[in-house]
Amino acid sequence: MNTPASLVIRTQDKYRSLTTKRAYKKGDVICPIPTATVYDKPNRFTVQIGRDRHVEVKELASMNHSCNPNTFLDTTRMLVFAARDVAVGEELTFFYPSTEWEMSSPFICLCGATNCIHVVAGARFLPLSTLEQHFLNRHIRELMIELLNNTELHLVNIERDRIHEEISQRNPSAA
Ligand SMILES: [Zn+2]
Repeated sequence: MNTPASLVIRTQDKYRSLTTKRAYKKGDVICPIPTATVYDKPNRFTVQIGRDRHVEVKELASMNHSCNPNTFLDTTRMLVFAARDVAVGEELTFFYPSTEWEMSSPFICLCGATNCIHVVAGARFLPLSTLEQHFLNRHIRELMIELLNNTELHLVNIERDRIHEEISQRNPSAA
């Protein structure tokens, strides 16, 4: 994988992180997202790039989640971008639900950001109002729309069943 030589994996008290030896300006491409190995299920070393597509991201698997991240992963262009200016030595982070719909290993976030989502389990567990504040990949937007449509359909069905129930109670012979 062609991770730039400027990226460094750090391990401190079992806490792995990815840091940078060089600075980036907002919008800079940091590196490509590897595409060599694709799985149909997520694991701790994958990033979701489509409905049933999860790529093993090698060194990028050391990139931690942040609710106020300094990078974002664009799974359409398969590139990692600087979300804001990044200083030398800074840890690189991204917002996991921007790529992950339903994670294999959810965890509690302690990033300390005022907009911290606390439970990092995937986009499907977050309200739209939270997701809208972040860069979201196409597959996440599509899955979210699908979930909303299914929810709406479900609510319509509940209402229809309730009306049927009411009618049949008023007029048992019509049931
Ligand atoms: Zn957080």
